Amino acid sequence: MKLALKNIDPSPSPPLTLAETLANRDLEAIDNAEEHIRRIEAQADLNAYITVSSERARAQAERSGDRLRRGDGRALEGAPLAVKDNFCTEDIRTTAGSRILENFIPTYESTVTARLLAAGAVFLGKTNMDEFGMGSSTENSAYGRTLNPRGLALGYNDLVPGGSSGGSAAAVAANLCLASVATDTGGSIRQPASFCGVVGFKPSYGACSRWGVVAYASSLDQPGVITKTVEDAAIIMDVISGNDPKDSTSCPHPPGDFVQDLNSCPERPIVGIPNAFRNVEGSPDLEALWSNIEDLLRESGAEVRYIDLPSVRYSLPAYYVLALCEASSNLARYDGVRYGYRAEGVKSLTEMYEVTRAQGFGEEVKRRVLLGTFALSAGYYDQYYLKAAKVRSVVSREMATAFEDVHWMVWPTAPSPAFGFGQHTKDPLSMYLEDLFTVPVNLAGLPAISVPGFTAKNGLPMGFQLVGRLGGDVGVLAFANRLEQLLRVATKQ
Ligand code: GLN
Repeated sequence: MKLALKNIDPSPSPPLTLAETLANRDLEAIDNAEEHIRRIEAQADLNAYITVSSERARAQAERSGDRLRRGDGRALEGAPLAVKDNFCTEDIRTTAGSRILENFIPTYESTVTARLLAAGAVFLGKTNMDEFGMGSSTENSAYGRTLNPRGLALGYNDLVPGGSSGGSAAAVAANLCLASVATDTGGSIRQPASFCGVVGFKPSYGACSRWGVVAYASSLDQPGVITKTVEDAAIIMDVISGNDPKDSTSCPHPPGDFVQDLNSCPERPIVGIPNAFRNVEGSPDLEALWSNIEDLLRESGAEVRYIDLPSVRYSLPAYYVLALCEASSNLARYDGVRYGYRAEGVKSLTEMYEVTRAQGFGEEVKRRVLLGTFALSAGYYDQYYLKAAKVRSVVSREMATAFEDVHWMVWPTAPSPAFGFGQHTKDPLSMYLEDLFTVPVNLAGLPAISVPGFTAKNGLPMGFQLVGRLGGDVGVLAFANRLEQLLRVATKQ
């Protein structure tokens, strides 16, 4: 089959995917772990990891090797993975990118990481992120910035990896792990995946447990995965998704079988493109990405329908009110008393709170706590929080109605490829605008995957996202898998 696709991104094919590693386990688990540790050390300048847990990884890999030799390997036996540094990991430091948690060593394991461990995964370490997930570039980490490995390969050493899961996306793209778990509150899995040329899947709200995840905005936070391929995302989702009695917002129904249904798609899928996104005026790269997306959908045999979502344009302001309000409440727990950093040399309790938080939090976190507290204060609550909550309901309803006529919706993941360090740091609003295409999905709780495949003029990767109806996670991966295969065929010709 000859495909008429342009500007295909040929390079993301990594040495070995998770699926290939699991299918072909002649490589000893310990050798595989050592190889990854060696690469992490050799590429320390990327700063993808905040904490590398090499000793633990070696011990886990030895145990996995024993199991594999005995023939009782589990689903992820011996697979070297990375974990975003906002999942609590027992006995491994968990900072959430913040100074205030610099010395925090959890005594318990988050549900998602516990499920990975129970499936035999090997943890290489904890990846860099914007402080508490607040940011779109990983420049808000208290542990230094992460470089974009795809940029580096093209000779640009000043590009962000995206955020907030920039460390996870960079680690996957640079083969410093086979895959990573991460979280997405307003795009933090999908946007860095797009910037680094890898796959990023944010499941439906509640599909993966939030128990043991450092909270940013609880009604929006959702754990998910960053991987090299859609199939790899399915493999991990089968392990980490599903109800958790410890998280009352976790979905009561099992999400389905991701790997088993990876190839089940409707013969003629109906795909919606929201006019509100199609008509966003942007760079020539954005326009080129759009026409590539439309070509790809045509090649896939899908019927494309242009749909109206009249309120979706209010998503960004609504998100930045709701997320900040929730953050101001969630971050009240960092008081210097129970855990984390405590200021020294203070004379009163109030001063201890003030100085602890002033020294422990970074600038962006303080800005958000202030704004969120203001928006929740008496007299302003109705004007901001309540209004934003209403917008959220309307956006969710419009999405749900649109999904009565289409199987999926598609639009770009981000308005541009990776941008430069410092480009948006002076003007926080310009940074928030980067999230234009990702936050509506979180407001409505929908599943969405960013798939790489196209390149910008300067050769950097650009992803597109495929959005499904609430609970339609398995279908999203199945159609993404089909599109990814088409892109692969096009790359080879
Ligand atoms: N960039 C968005 C924010 O700063 C989303 C971050 C995220 O998903 N954690 O809020």
